[in-house]
Amino acid sequence: MDTIHRNTLYGLDYSQLADLCTAEGWPPFMAGQLARWLYKRHVEDPAQMTDLATARRERLAELFGRAFSASVRESRSADGTKKYLFRTSEGHFIESAYIPDGERATLCVSSQAGCRMGCRFCATGRQGLQQSLPTAEILNQIVSLPERDTLTNVVFMGMGEPLDNLENVVRALDILTSDWGFGWSPTRITVSTAGVVPQLRRFLDATRVHLAVSLHNPFSEERAEIMPVERAWPIAQVAEILREYDFTHQRRVSFEYIVMSGLNDTPRHVRELCRLLNGIKCRINLIRFHKIPDSPYFSPDEAAMIRFRDALTARGIQTTIRASRGEDIQAACGLLSTAFESTPFERRSLCD
Ligand code: SF4
Repeated sequence: MDTIHRNTLYGLDYSQLADLCTAEGWPPFMAGQLARWLYKRHVEDPAQMTDLATARRERLAELFGRAFSASVRESRSADGTKKYLFRTSEGHFIESAYIPDGERATLCVSSQAGCRMGCRFCATGRQGLQQSLPTAEILNQIVSLPERDTLTNVVFMGMGEPLDNLENVVRALDILTSDWGFGWSPTRITVSTAGVVPQLRRFLDATRVHLAVSLHNPFSEERAEIMPVERAWPIAQVAEILREYDFTHQRRVSFEYIVMSGLNDTPRHVRELCRLLNGIKCRINLIRFHKIPDSPYFSPDEAAMIRFRDALTARGIQTTIRASRGEDIQAACGLLSTAFESTPFERRSLCD
């Protein structure tokens, strides 16, 4: 089994690499050398950093443990979606989903093991928060992916609330989008949030990636029943903040809307959505509810999804129906890791 450490060189941003060089009495340009090895060549073993002096390589090996860790389990769906299960440094399980789609290949990554937002329709929410992932463990899901070099997009829509682990998520985004890092365009990345109001401005100011807001119901009382986060940070406040930002050029904001039959797909929901989102250039992505065990909610049929989409489109909101992927491998957020967390350790380790 791969052992992943918390204190890793991989996951440090440029200023942290520069601080390390200063602290060790190394020349400032070595920060650039380290960044190239780490984020251009994806080499984390100091022994392989051949343009560094031997004594410095040995010192790095003394200071830091390994960040890269292969998945402990992989499931493949008939539709090509793959789900990877990783063990974290604290022994929890997180999931990533690889979703190929024609020319696009998207990886859905986790930012936490479990989640404390408690959304009622979500298997991860039932686990509670176990661990916020360090930057290296967020990036490991990308770097250790067998399909890494085919990726076109990354979405932070796996386990956890990214804005509840803001520092590590922002650092991971910085590494992914900086010239000294992966050098990706921020338009390849989308971060999803349930609407953590105190962190939202900081996130929008610190990054240029796309934002997806989990909306699911425009009525405060009804939303609070499925998303307890509404009681702390109402969606109306989220919308108010978003109105202050420009989403007309490179950066996009979308609203994710899991459609639950009869619960949030009626004509009055259409009217209230229009009122709530007035003045925000956005798109709504409709997602058919994936039934999770013991859930009181139901999936709408295809005709109901189309009716709801058309009603929103007719009112001027760009609305799409997101294809369900990987249903046969429990690709809904948190289902695979929930199954694993509730499996005795001896049986889990058979898969390692
Ligand atoms: Fe957390 Fe997202 Fe699940 Fe809500 S839907 S409990 S924010 S992981």
